[in-house]
Amino acid sequence: MEQVLGLRCTICGAEYAPDEVEYVCPRHGDDGTLDVVYDYEQIRQRFLPEKLAGHPARSIWRYLPLLPVDAGTAARLTAGTVLGSVGWTPLYPAPRLAGDLGLGRLWVKDDGRQPTASFKDRASAIAVCKAQELGYGVVTTASTGNAAAALAGMCAGVGQANVIFLPRTAPQAKIAQLLVFGSQVLLVDGTYDDAFELCLRAAPEFGWYSRNTGYNPYMSEGKKTASYEICEQLTAAASSRGEPESQAPWTAPDVVVVPVGDGCIIGGVHKGFQDLLALGWIERMPRLVGVQAAGSSPLVDAWERGLEGWEMQPVEAHSLADSIVAGLPRDRIKALRAVRHSGGAFLRVTDDQIVAAIPALARGCGVFAEPAAAASYAGLREAVKLGLIHAGEEVVILATGSGLKDVATAIKSVGQPAVVAPDLDAVRRALNLQSGE
Ligand SMILES: *Cc1c(COP(=O)(O)O)cnc(C)c1O
Ligand SMILES: [Zn+2]
Repeated sequence: MEQVLGLRCTICGAEYAPDEVEYVCPRHGDDGTLDVVYDYEQIRQRFLPEKLAGHPARSIWRYLPLLPVDAGTAARLTAGTVLGSVGWTPLYPAPRLAGDLGLGRLWVKDDGRQPTASFKDRASAIAVCKAQELGYGVVTTASTGNAAAALAGMCAGVGQANVIFLPRTAPQAKIAQLLVFGSQVLLVDGTYDDAFELCLRAAPEFGWYSRNTGYNPYMSEGKKTASYEICEQLTAAASSRGEPESQAPWTAPDVVVVPVGDGCIIGGVHKGFQDLLALGWIERMPRLVGVQAAGSSPLVDAWERGLEGWEMQPVEAHSLADSIVAGLPRDRIKALRAVRHSGGAFLRVTDDQIVAAIPALARGCGVFAEPAAAASYAGLREAVKLGLIHAGEEVVILATGSGLKDVATAIKSVGQPAVVAPDLDAVRRALNLQSGE
């Protein structure tokens, strides 16, 4: 894995060889999340963007030279398995929604189409590869639901044992996924934050590999692949519209809107664009807009007050968008850095705005999103209202999870359908139709 030079602390900048530390900076404990540092010079010489167009892997594995995974491990674990199907999700144009908001172009990246129906597959696929490279018998994670479902699915694909810690309140669909995939599931009588602390303590005690978000440095590396896909897909779309080619091989959007809980996705998306800038494949960093639920918005608070990640204190957090409820966002340092470095913003949306966004997004472009994923569309509307996004700009919103993950909230957003007797008169009355119409 000669592409990885080392791991660098996000607080003190100390650099470690990949086999010197496992998860965090020893000087900073659990706060000291690490960045994976690459040898861009070497990657640039052997990985050419023009070769990607014909690459057979329609998955994150088309970017293997930019991933922290050994080529042999990837070949062994991804051939014909669910791991091999992670990524390369559709990027849909949404002209009707763009028109409503006065945007130039709007795109929806549909990660509900991942193998376990959420964005978390991107990270969990890397976790399973790392666990096997390092020779662990068991992988573990705490999760609000999707990270666990993703880990469970990826593990089931390759026969890897795993133990999952979930808050008791997680939605049934996510719990069902875990049980069906054969994970050992522990529902913690407490919050996600409690489950996280318990899992962090259990992993070293029992010798398990920890996939935990904002702790395991490689999770951002899986999540960054969304940015590569966005730029590659936007470039292909521009070229099929016959637009003149720009200086750099790929084009980046103006803005990317990301729903934020722990902050790993937004940090990873930032890392992906940073990689592409370092390689010279894109010319500018898109502004990253992080969307939090009003009842779980510690990163918006910290951003407004100018706090650093390591100065944040845990708060009580509630929202029906369960995937973005985090009282102490674990990837807070990377999340704040992503928004500050990109010239973006953090903002809040209420649960009512989130619920309303579910049918609005679905009807506007055909993507059925779970509440946390619909939060990015609610956040886009809010960002336009606040003047954070300007007329004519090109925007991508991440739809991070499928609506089938939380059917109860979806039904709340649209109500129940009409019940009719099995005859035509009943249909006529229910739909207000005249005969012969
Ligand atoms: C996890 C998750 C998020 C938020 O990602 P973080 O890395 O925790 O910020 C958003 N949407 C969905 C559907 C998720 O599962
Ligand atoms: Zn440090």
